[in-house]
Amino acid sequence: MKLHEYQSKDLFSKFGVPVTPGEVASDAEGALRAAQALGGKVVVKAQVLMGGRGKAGGVKLFDRPEDAAAFAGELIGKRLTSVQNPTGMVVEKVLVAQQIEIAEEYYVSILLDRAEQKLVVMCSKEGGMEIEEVAARDPQAIARLVVNPIWGVEDFEIRSLARRAKLPTNVVRQFVPMVKSLVKAYIESDAELIEVNPFALTTDGKLIAADAKVSIDDNSQFRHPEFRETADDAAENPLEAEAARQGIAYVHLGGDIGIIGNGAGLVMCSIDEVSAAGGKPANFLDVGGGAKADRVEKCVRLVLSDPNVKGLLINIFGGITRGEEVAHGILEAFEHLDVSIPVVARIEGTGAQEALNLLSGSKIVGATTMQEAAQRIVALAGA
Ligand code: GDP
Ligand code: MN
Repeated sequence: MKLHEYQSKDLFSKFGVPVTPGEVASDAEGALRAAQALGGKVVVKAQVLMGGRGKAGGVKLFDRPEDAAAFAGELIGKRLTSVQNPTGMVVEKVLVAQQIEIAEEYYVSILLDRAEQKLVVMCSKEGGMEIEEVAARDPQAIARLVVNPIWGVEDFEIRSLARRAKLPTNVVRQFVPMVKSLVKAYIESDAELIEVNPFALTTDGKLIAADAKVSIDDNSQFRHPEFRETADDAAENPLEAEAARQGIAYVHLGGDIGIIGNGAGLVMCSIDEVSAAGGKPANFLDVGGGAKADRVEKCVRLVLSDPNVKGLLINIFGGITRGEEVAHGILEAFEHLDVSIPVVARIEGTGAQEALNLLSGSKIVGATTMQEAAQRIVALAGA
C-alpha cells in the first residue's frame, strides 16, 4: 500500500522527522483556508500516487493564497501524467504546504536490498527531480549504508554515510537523528520503501523532509489498525478498498467478465482462459482455502458490485474448499441479489457432484473444463 505524501508526512512527524507544515484540501475553498492559515506563501502539491509530479505540473509555489487556491481548483479533477506513469492519475486532493526556502536538495531512501537480505539506506547530495538521471549517470554519487538487522544503525555509520554522500559537515549533526528516526519508522511501520526527495536544506540551515513517499507491506495490515483509514484514502480503486476492508484478495482489472476462483494460480489461469476466449477479465478474486458459503456470497456480491461486469465465471477446484459450500454461497448470494447477468460455474474435485446437484435447476450454467467455462461465459456475456 502506497501512502500519499500527506500521509507519509504524518507518519514522519510521529517519528520525530521534521516535515514542512501543511494541510490537505479537496477543493479550492479548502486550499484557500489552508494557505491563509499557513501564512500565505505556500506550495500546492497534487496528491497522486505517482512519481515525477513536479515535472508533470503537479507542484507549484505561490506567494498569495488566492493564486494557490485558483491553482488547486484547476488541479483537482485533472489527470496528471508523467514519464513513469503515462496513463496518469486523477487528482482528488492537494497538499497545501508552507513554502520553504531551499538551498540544497538531498536524497535519502530506505529499502530492502534483496541481494544483501538487509535494509539499505541510500543517500545522495544530488537530490531533487533529476535523481533518476544521477543514478543512471553516476551510481557512485549515491552512497549506501547496510543496516545491521541485530543492532540497527549506529551514529558513526550514519556519519560515514553522510561523508561518503559528500553532505556538508555542518548538516551531519541534524542528519544523524533523522536517519535513525526514518529507520525506526521503516521497521515499526512494516514499510517496504521510504523515500525523501528532496531532503531539503533550507537557506537558514535546517534539514527538513520537503517530500515523502512511503509504501507499507500489505501483509502487515493486521497489525497496523492505524493505517486502516489511510488504506481507504490511498486505495487506487474503490472496489479494492472495499475488498481490503472485508479481507478479500481482489484486484480490479477493468474488463467486463467477473472472475472468482480458489487459489491464486487457478484464478490467474481463469483470467488467461477468458482472455484467450476473447473476453476482458474484470478482476482477480481468490476466495481462499476452505471458503464457506458466507464468504463465497461476499465475494460474489463484491464482484457484482462492479457496474461493468456483464458475466461471471466461477472456477473452483475442490480440495480444502468444498464444492457444495461454494454452491451454497452462490445460491445464497443469488437469493439476496437481483442477478440478471449470465453465470458459468466450473466446479471440480471435492464436493463437485453435490455442488452440481445443488446448482441444477438454478440459472447457473455448468461447465466441465476451464476452457469450456471461459468460452461459454464470454459467449453468453457478449450475446
Ligand atoms: P515530485 O516531483 O513528485 O517528487 O514532488 P516534490 O515534492 O519533490 O516537488 C518537486 C520539486 O518542487 C522539489 O524538488 C523542489 O525543488 C520543489 N519544491 C517543493 N516544495 C518546495 C518548497 O517548499 N520550496 C521550494 N523552494 N521548492 C519546493
Ligand atoms: Mn520528490
